[in-house]
Amino acid sequence: MALTSLTGQEHAKAQIGAWLSANRLPHAILIAGPLGSGKRQLALELAKAINCLTPGDDACDQCSSCRKADSLNHPNLHLLLPVPTGSRTSTDSEAMAALRESALEQIRGQSTATRTGTNISKDSIRLLQKEMSFAPTEAPHRVGLILQAEAMLAAGANSLLKILEEPPGKSIFILVSDAPDRLLPTILSRCQRLQLRSLTVSEQSERLQQDGAEQERADLAARLAASGGIRASDVIRGEEFDELRELVRRFIGAGIQGSEQDYWDVLQDLGGRPDRQQLEGFLQLCSAYLRDLFLVQQKQDADIANIDEKQNLHAWAQGLLPNRIELVAQVLDQAYDSLSRNVNPQLLLADLWYHLQRARAA
Ligand SMILES: [Zn+2]
Repeated sequence: MALTSLTGQEHAKAQIGAWLSANRLPHAILIAGPLGSGKRQLALELAKAINCLTPGDDACDQCSSCRKADSLNHPNLHLLLPVPTGSRTSTDSEAMAALRESALEQIRGQSTATRTGTNISKDSIRLLQKEMSFAPTEAPHRVGLILQAEAMLAAGANSLLKILEEPPGKSIFILVSDAPDRLLPTILSRCQRLQLRSLTVSEQSERLQQDGAEQERADLAARLAASGGIRASDVIRGEEFDELRELVRRFIGAGIQGSEQDYWDVLQDLGGRPDRQQLEGFLQLCSAYLRDLFLVQQKQDADIANIDEKQNLHAWAQGLLPNRIELVAQVLDQAYDSLSRNVNPQLLLADLWYHLQRARAA
């Protein structure tokens, strides 16, 4: 894939094309934008285009440089991304292999790095600094690609700042971040910024299909991601998501039908004490269903997220009082907020159930 075949982000792509065709590349580029906007893919395609051996304003995808960059095996492409605090690998080459694997997964959307306990250390930035100071060997530039740049610890950020103040010749840094306000202002001011926007639902679906997802799955993932909180990559990966969604479907269905036995069954299947991540996913999906029920009642079917559930949603919507769904949604929002206070999950779900009962039409 090349820059031009990436979905959306025409503005950013045009800017890159202009830099490349004028051969005036900035020493530091920040690719910022919300989750799911395609920052990492754009960053990799930019890195490829910078070092492509075929002249032009995009990567050719054919030359040896492009092919090596595609697998992150290019000797002039250096990677930096957060690793769990305290993780140790015995050698540099092992560490590099693990890093490459993790970056490839992230770029292909197969994994989303967890934020807790992960950071970019000062040592790894020093290593990058050393690598970037050598003259490029196989391609015009050395490219340093920093994913989740906001995860740099203060000491590391200061080291990077020093490099950006006096960048080694033929070196280009690409920083990627969905939280650029957490970067040092002095770093921000050294970077040319490419601001990506959220993709529309149809763009997101197209992008997921480009990455190999089936159309139906891609549509569902794009719609759920747009409804808030749910990661498209979780939906695409499937099994775990499907299991959780089935539980949510049973919970809401039981709530609307007032079937207490089903309620207890769902709680049992969810496990006595679900962990926070599981509970978070459960509540996010509940929220998506409630939003859909509201939309059905408002006769806005075109906007529903659980697009494969239209029939169920219509049947359920009839079982609920028209003006009560928002109330349940509010309770759900509060439940979500209370997750950070380690509230008892049983109590939380019981509260939600109680309000669902009050929203029933019968
Ligand atoms: Zn090429």
